[in-house]
Order: sequence, then C-alpha cells, then structure tokens
Amino acid sequence: MIPNLNHQENIKQDTFAFIKALSESDYAGEIAKSYASRLAVATDNSVYQCLPQAVLYPKSTQDIITLCQLAQQTEFADIRFSPRGGGTGTNGQSLTNDIVLDLSKHMNNILEINPKDGWVRVQTGVVKDQLNDYLKPHGLFFSPELSTSNRATIGGMISNDASGQGSLAYGKTSDHVLALTSVLIDGSLLESKPLAAVDLIDQVEREDSIGAIYRQVIDTCESQQDNIENTFPKLNRFLTGYDLKHVYDHESGTVDLTRILCGAEGSLAFITEATLHVQPIPTYRTLFNIKYDSFQSALQNAPFLVKADALSVETVDSKVLNLAKQDIVWHSVKDLITDVPGQVLDGINIVEFAESDQTIQQQKIDALTVMLDGLISNKEAGVIGYQICSDLADINKIYGMRKKAVGLLGKADTRAKPIPFAEDTCVPPENLAAYIIEFRQLLDDKGLHYGMFGHVDAGVLHVRPALDLCDPEQEKLMREISDKVVALTAKYKGLMWGEHGKGFRSEYGPEFFGEVLFNELRKIKAAFDPNNRVNPGKICTPLNSTEQLVSVDAVKRGTFDRQIPIEVRESYSQALDCNGNGLCFNYDTKSPMCPSVKVTKDRVHSPKGRAGLMREWLRQLANNDIDVLALESDLYAGKNASIFTKFKNTLSKRNGEYDFSHEVMEAMQGCLACKACTSQCPIQVDVPTFRSRFIHLYHDRYLRPIKDYLVAYVEQYAPLMGTMPRFFNFFTGLKVTSTLTEKVVGMVDIPQLSTPTLKSTLNQHDISEFDLTKLQALSATEREDYVLIVQDPFTTYYDADVVRDLILTVKKLGYKPVLLPFKPNGKPQHIKGFLSKFAKTAKDSAAFLNQMAELSIPMVGTDPAMVLCYRDEYKQALGNERGAFNVQLFQEWLKPRLKGEVKTASNADFYLLGHCTEKTAEPTAGNDWVTIFKHFGGSLSEVAVGCCGMAGTYGHDAGKLADSKAIYSLSWEAEIAKRERAQCLATGYSCRSQVKRIEGETLKHPVQALLSLL
Ligand SMILES: Cc1cc2nc3c(=O)[nH]c(=O)nc-3n(C[C@H](O)[C@H](O)[C@H](O)COP(=O)(O)OP(=O)(O)OC[C@H]3O[C@@H](n4cnc5c(N)ncnc54)[C@H](O)[C@@H]3O)c2cc1C
Ligand code: SF4
Ligand code: SF4
Repeated sequence: MIPNLNHQENIKQDTFAFIKALSESDYAGEIAKSYASRLAVATDNSVYQCLPQAVLYPKSTQDIITLCQLAQQTEFADIRFSPRGGGTGTNGQSLTNDIVLDLSKHMNNILEINPKDGWVRVQTGVVKDQLNDYLKPHGLFFSPELSTSNRATIGGMISNDASGQGSLAYGKTSDHVLALTSVLIDGSLLESKPLAAVDLIDQVEREDSIGAIYRQVIDTCESQQDNIENTFPKLNRFLTGYDLKHVYDHESGTVDLTRILCGAEGSLAFITEATLHVQPIPTYRTLFNIKYDSFQSALQNAPFLVKADALSVETVDSKVLNLAKQDIVWHSVKDLITDVPGQVLDGINIVEFAESDQTIQQQKIDALTVMLDGLISNKEAGVIGYQICSDLADINKIYGMRKKAVGLLGKADTRAKPIPFAEDTCVPPENLAAYIIEFRQLLDDKGLHYGMFGHVDAGVLHVRPALDLCDPEQEKLMREISDKVVALTAKYKGLMWGEHGKGFRSEYGPEFFGEVLFNELRKIKAAFDPNNRVNPGKICTPLNSTEQLVSVDAVKRGTFDRQIPIEVRESYSQALDCNGNGLCFNYDTKSPMCPSVKVTKDRVHSPKGRAGLMREWLRQLANNDIDVLALESDLYAGKNASIFTKFKNTLSKRNGEYDFSHEVMEAMQGCLACKACTSQCPIQVDVPTFRSRFIHLYHDRYLRPIKDYLVAYVEQYAPLMGTMPRFFNFFTGLKVTSTLTEKVVGMVDIPQLSTPTLKSTLNQHDISEFDLTKLQALSATEREDYVLIVQDPFTTYYDADVVRDLILTVKKLGYKPVLLPFKPNGKPQHIKGFLSKFAKTAKDSAAFLNQMAELSIPMVGTDPAMVLCYRDEYKQALGNERGAFNVQLFQEWLKPRLKGEVKTASNADFYLLGHCTEKTAEPTAGNDWVTIFKHFGGSLSEVAVGCCGMAGTYGHDAGKLADSKAIYSLSWEAEIAKRERAQCLATGYSCRSQVKRIEGETLKHPVQALLSLL
C-alpha cells in the first residue's frame, strides 16, 4: 500500500506572513500556496526546476501596486517576485524559489483598439493568438511571430523580446511596443513611451525612483555611446536585456524606457499593460516549400532565397521532418510536402512572399519559379523539387507543422532527451553555413544526437542536443558544450541568445556586453530594483549587490528525477517525459487540447500540471523506499489492503490529515480522460494512462466513492436493467431518485435506457441472429458479405436507435450484419482506475474478439471511445496477449468498400462535430466521413470544435457539472446554435448525450444521416 506522503516543502515564515497580510488587504487577486499550485509553476520548457513559495494571480494593475506597497514593509524586505506569463521560456526566465506573479490567469483582456491609427491596448496576460484572432475582423495583425503563439503571453513576448518567422520584415516585439504600463517594486506606476527631450525634463527632475531611472539611463547612454555602438552586433536579432542601443536617440534626445523593459526578462518591473502597433494583414500570401538533397544545401541556398525578396526563409532538416512525419501534425501537411520520386529529401526551405499588391506578389513568385526550375534542370544547389501553396488554410498548416517542430525536437524514445540550452544561437546569416559546420562538429565529437532548423534569413539556428540530465556526467557535458557554443558564437560575431532570452544563461552576460557595459546594466537594475527583488539573478544584479547571477549549473529537473529508480522512470515515461513546452495550454477553444485547463484556467489541471505532480509523487515514493512497480504487481495479484485499513485511512483524510496523494488525486479527478494530450502533445504525454495507474494505487489506501462503482460496473448492470427499461426509467426519472443520486452518490442527469430495446427494434427487421456454428460453416466468399457488429453498453442500452440504424445501413449497402453478443469492454473500469478488473475484462473480451476474428469477417463498432479502447488501453494492459483482432469504426470499414458511381449531389447538407478521442487518435476520421457522404450524394463539413464536456461520465459527476457545461459553452454551444439541429451529427455517445441534456434535443450519428441518403 502507498504510504502517507506527509512531507511538505514548507513556506518560509515571512512569505506566510506576507500572503496572510495580502489576503487581508485590498488585493482582489488570487493567492495559491498549495504544493500542487507551486509545483505547476516550478518548471518551464527549460531543464531547470525551482519551487516557488507561493503563486499570486493578480486581477489588475492596482492589485500589483497593492502587493508591491505591502512588500515595502520592513518585515517583508526579503521577499522577491518573478513575473510569469505562459511559462514557455526555454531557459528558466520565469523560475524562482520566491513568489511567482502569474499575470496570465486574469490579466488577459484586450482593452482598446484604434484601427485607424493601427494600435491596440492590452493587458499583458493576453496570448498572442488571442490577440490576432481579435484583430482579424479589423483586417489587422500583431506581426512579431513565435512558435508558441497559442500560449505565450504579450508580457512574456515583451520581456523576452520575442521574434520568429518573418522577422526580417516585421522585426522583434520591441519594434512594435508603443507604450507600457509597469509597476515598480516600490509600488510606483511607470508609464513609459518615447519622450522627447522637452518632455523629459519633468521626469529627470523627479525625486522618486522614476526620476532615478531616467537619470541613470540617460547617463549610461551618453557616457557609453561609442561602446554601445561597437558592442551591439548589427543583427536582426540584436543583443537583448537591456537594450541600450535603442533606448536613447542621440540626435533628438528622445528616451523610450519601453526599450529597456523589452527583453529585460521581468528583472526590472511588472508590466501590466501594453499599447502595441498592429498592421494590415497582407492580402496575398504564397509559400514555396523547396526540397533539397541535404540540410547543408538548404542552408547554403537560403541567402539566395532571401535575395529573391522573400518575407521569410525557414530551414528544416531531415531529422525534424522525420519527427514531424511520425506526429499527428503530418497528416495535415503530407500533400503539401510530398517526397520526390527517386531522390532523398533531406532538408527543406519554407519561403514566404506576402504583399498587398497582387502584381508585385506575382512577379516575385514568377521570378523564383524560373530560378528554381533552372536550378533543378541544371542539378544545381541541391534543389530537387518544390511545391507552391497560396491557400491560407494550407499556409497555416505548414506553419502549424513548423511551429510544432520545435516541440517535436524535444521528443526521443531514448533516455537522452533533446534539451534547450544553446537552442537559439544567432550569427550573421552570411556566417551561418560555416558556423553550423563547426557546431555540428562539436556535437558529433561528443556523439550526441540532435535535429536542426532555423530562421536562416536571420541567422538563427534551433538545435537541441540530446542529453540525459539524470546522469550527473551528462550534466557536466551540458556545461562544457554550453561554454563552447558561447565561444563559437563569439567567433562568428553572433550571440548565444538570438530569440529566447538569457534566463539561467545570464552568467554569460559579461562576455557579450563586456565588463564596462555590464556594470552599466547593473546600475540600471539598481535604479529600478535597488534590493534585487524583481526576478533576481536574471540578466544582472544591482551594482554593489553581492548576490550571484543564476547559472547554467543551477538545480535541474534531472536532480529530482534521478531520485526515481530508472525502471520506474521508464515505466512512467508518459509523465516523466513532459518537457514543459506548454502546448497543452493552447488558448484555442476549438482545439481539442486539454479542456480541463481551458475551463479552470488552473495550470494544475493541465497535462503538464498532472505530469509534474506525478513526477513529484513518484520521487516522494522512491524517497520513502517504496517500489511502486512491485506495489502495482501486488494489486494485480489481488493483494489489496484490508477494508479496515482503508476505512481508517479514509477517516484520517476526512479529519484533515495531509497527504500529498490527495493533491495529486484532485488534479487527476479534474481530467476528463479525453485523451487529447496523448496525441496532441508533441512528447505524447499520456495523462489517462498514468492517471488510471495512480487512481488504482490511491484506492488501495483510501476507500472509493460509490459513484466509482456505479461507473465501473455499468457494463454489468446495464444489460440487466436493459431487460426492463421502462421499469428502471420510471425510477430513475423520479425527482426523489435524481435528488438522492445527486446528494448521496454524487451523480447527475443519469440517462434513460432506450425503449424499445435494441433487441425488440431489431425483431421488426430481418437481421440474422448470431450463430457461431453457422458462421464457421460459411465459405470464404460467403463471409465477404458479412459484417459483425460489436456492441458497447452506451449505444446498445442508452442509444439503441443508433445501433439499429447502423445495422440497417450495413444491410442497405448490400451486406449481412450480425449483432455479436454483448461483451463488456472495460473502458469505464479503466477510467476509474479499477485496473486489475480492467485487465480481466480486457482479457475475456480479447479472447472472444480473437475467436471472432478467426472468422475473417470484418468487425465494426459504434462508439469511437469504446472502439479505440480496444486498440490503445487493451494493448497497454495485455501486451502481446491482446492478439490481433481488429474492431473498425464504421467509416474505416466503409470507405475502402465504396464502389459504383458517385450519386448526384442532393440538398442534404450535414455538419460533423467530431469526438475528441476519435479525431485526435484517428485524424482521418472526419475526412473519411466527408468522402462517404459525397459518394452517396450528401455534403458533410467538419466543424472545428473542442471537447463537448461530457467525456464518458465526467459530465455526470455532480462535482464537475458546472465545468462540464462550461466546457460545452467554449465551442459546442455556438456551433450548434448556428445550425439546424437535424443537420448536426456527432459520432460520440457522450457528445450526443451532452447536447441532449443541454439543448433538450439529441443529435444524430452520421450513420443515421447516411441511412437517409441511401
Ligand atoms: C517550443 C518552443 C518554441 C519557442 N519558439 C520561440 C520563437 O519562435 N520565438 C521566440 O521569441 N521565442 C520562442 N520560444 C520562447 C518563449 O515561448 C517566448 O520567449 C515567449 O515570448 C515567452 O512568453 P511566455 O508568456 O511564455 O513568458 P514566460 O515564460 O512566462 O516568461 C518569460 C519572461 O518574461 C517575464 N514576464 C512575463 N510576463 C511578464 C510581465 N507581465 N511583466 C514583466 N515580465 C514578464 C518572465 O519573468 C520571464 O522572464 C519558444 C519556446 C518553446 C517552448
Ligand atoms: S504535457 Fe506535453 S504539451 Fe504539455 S507541457 Fe508537457 S510536453 Fe508540453
Ligand atoms: S486526457 Fe484530456 S482532460 Fe485529461 S489531461 Fe489529457 S487533454 Fe486534459
């Protein structure tokens, strides 16, 4: 049995007193001090881990002023704060052992827009894609681009001075910041924007910290003019943190403090609002995907492409391409980057032209086409082919793949994982090819694996060498390589940080700024933050401070992970491999990725949050000498804790005894088990799998609630209840029953059983009864006409019309459907973590289905979640014992059998709202249905929606009802409201029942609409 994990990383006395005082003040934001909340922000995408004391989620600028003013009291003088946005930094920029100030949760409103003058004012917790979605109807966009655009915040972009694809034309974030509102640590409000010399006088003469800042910045810029000019390389990705080059215009005497704040990595002030320049979306966009025989050819050809006046040139190597090919994302681009017959495709350049004048755009396209055709026919420059796309949706798909590639670089099946620490170096583009040869040599000499791609137009290279930081020797190697790359970038007149900021690489600051300028940075830091309390250790410390800068030798995640035995780490790789890239925080409500974090806005309830808790839980178990794998084996062998022990432990829990496992359990209970993370996460972090394993172990210590049994045994009692549906419906339909079910069991909206039953409706049709002997006696040719229908408890007993119509459709298509006897599938047991029982159910069911598979007759199931369970969960539970049986989804079975002429199009328009498990695990599902409908004269369009919020039984849990409905309203509600109900189709039983309980009317399964077309 797992022990009580009651060790807590205690909060320091002064922090405790501070948050107590804060909660009693006018501060209206949230305060989180649970271990789970602190762990959720203890990592970013870097290799480092720092546990903060607490997390504050302010709701307004005033909240930040309040907390800063409170922090001025002497007893709180040692408390420090680090601002945080999306937490996607690659070098630990937002990590701290003090207090995290997370602006992403509440301060994410767009405040004002002026389309005429091209600006927008936002709170800094706004996500970049959120902003562009808002600007789109105005024909505008915020142009600095970055791969993490669906979760990185404006505050993080400003503070890292983010940039990416298109930077030659669009520049960096700092080039588009018009004004900032910031709070200084002493509680003063700093409104910064370019100030002409005449307006500066008032500021310089101020006696407060703002006056001191202006005086220091002007003094530094004037006294170091030549030094600054000579030190800052003339690169598109100039030297960030602090931007002495752009803060002061020597000719006009204008000072713009926003330029100092941009790239300051939150080490100077808390930026709360930003006024940003926005510009018209280019009308015409075209991408060339140019294919090369090697990465080197692609690199060397890049300058030639830049000269073709392209907006951007991005190079991707074969390793990254191959990673993308193995990911779900490839499905969307495979027709846009096809292989070249007879050639090895080992690198691509993605070249974009974007213009508002069609003639100019066409001229550029024509010119490049001629040049490329010439190179191909002369077999020059390693160009082996190219594809052009001008469709916006296709362009977005290519960039979607390119953006995900950075995350994919972090994926590896080996212990060594690709890690960021020298992943965004920048050299003058003309030096890039030579620089890369030396960089490769350095990594090859150490025998390291890596993939590469980059913004070659700007000389930025993305590379993540694979290292196992659980091995202390490899940790040393990281430091060695890091130092060598610093030297190499200096040799090629470049920078160690071209785009992702410094963070724990801040120790290299003096090498790039030089001692004199670095001291000037320290003076500026002292003017803003004299006592080193704002994101301390990042970029520089105040002059006269004896405190150290953070260093690449800081405590890493590996330090904690190596405490977990290797075999446990490998067994739980679905959790341990999370590298914190934050893709699971995707802001887009139409993306299936993690509904639970979307609705709660709590990072604990994200795949990353859950994976982080699991890592810590496994570490604590290891430190308590618990062999978790042995415990699991015991459970499978039926060695459970006694009911008395469980009762005793549960009583202690009720009495408030702390156990870290409860915090983990709470996070796992918020998960819908929708499985979106399993395929959408670039690392394929698989929450449902480790969640079930955790719940299994947890309930060996603590009693289960009744509702768990009600869910897990639905496949046992539904067939019994299904024999007398009207009787049971009468009882479940009574008010008193629903009240009792809600209050006592904790479940709501229990669905009604189907009447008439499936059996009785089928009796009215001429459907063959299941007779194994008869089926075995059929010849191979006769069997080709048959289809075996696999039942599941939900459609059979609660949505019988769907199964009936599926059978009738099969029949109408000229086949002979046979309904297989009902066999429990086990999915409900898996979801509730009854893993020993699930293993048994899966074994029995697999034995039956393998026996049926010997008939060589296709088997078709109805509900996607249940069918896909045979493929995924069965494989995990049974391994080779699963056997080779294959249960297909209806569309998988029918699509390859489409024959004959395509029917003339009718007026039948339908819309498919896909099931999240199905569309993430089987991305062709929607398209297959579209093809099928087209064949039979119907028209079907896929509707982009996220999760419906039901996810099996999640939506029936009384405690989750509000979240379930809120998830529905994120994307389903509006899409359903737009259309005729009869035209909306859903493959998932859960989705249909969610629509039914919220809208009062059910949707059809696509097979039912298809039947109407036949
Ligand atoms: C897979 C991947 C790909 C990436 N690709 C790119 C890329 O193409 N281009 C690029 O530029 N970067 C890239 N990055 C790095 C990172 O995503 C960006 O720098 C991003 O702008 C960080 O935003 P965030 O909201 O996540 O900030 P966080 O990581 O939360 O914070 C970043 C820094 O900003 C500070 N900060 C945040 N909010 C505030 C505020 N309101 N006031 C003051 N300081 C604040 C923090 O203290 C920290 O120092 C990538 C990262 C990953 C994981
Ligand atoms: S769960 Fe996946 S997507 Fe989320 S942070 Fe971890 S690796 Fe990234
Ligand atoms: S299964 Fe769904 S709800 Fe659970 S963590 Fe993964 S994406 Fe989030």
